[in-house]
Amino acid sequence: MSDNEVTKRMGQLLRKGAALLNTACPKCNTPLLRLKDGSMYCAKCDKEVVEQTAVASSGELQISSSETLNQLASKVLVSIELLIHSFPEKPHTEEIRAFAKTARDLVEILKRIQEVQT
Ligand SMILES: [Zn+2]
Repeated sequence: MSDNEVTKRMGQLLRKGAALLNTACPKCNTPLLRLKDGSMYCAKCDKEVVEQTAVASSGELQISSSETLNQLASKVLVSIELLIHSFPEKPHTEEIRAFAKTARDLVEILKRIQEVQT
């Protein structure tokens, strides 16, 4: 489905009383809709999305598309590379701190991706 069609479908649902949530679909990152029956719906995937809290407690992971995860992982790797290249020769304490924090965050994301994939 094209983005246009997705937007159109979301518009139709909103007019029917659905609410736009600030939660995004774990698969495609499209903002989710809360339908009148209380379920969360992704217009792009055209399916109901199980709430993430519920997903976590059942031990099942909603994010299973390895293609998406691989894309994410490659973006993280590019970010790490950029981070390394942008590191100044004589960094200030603040710069080192920011570098360490960002590096840690990025590595953490990579670790999570690996956990999900294994
Ligand atoms: Zn989706």
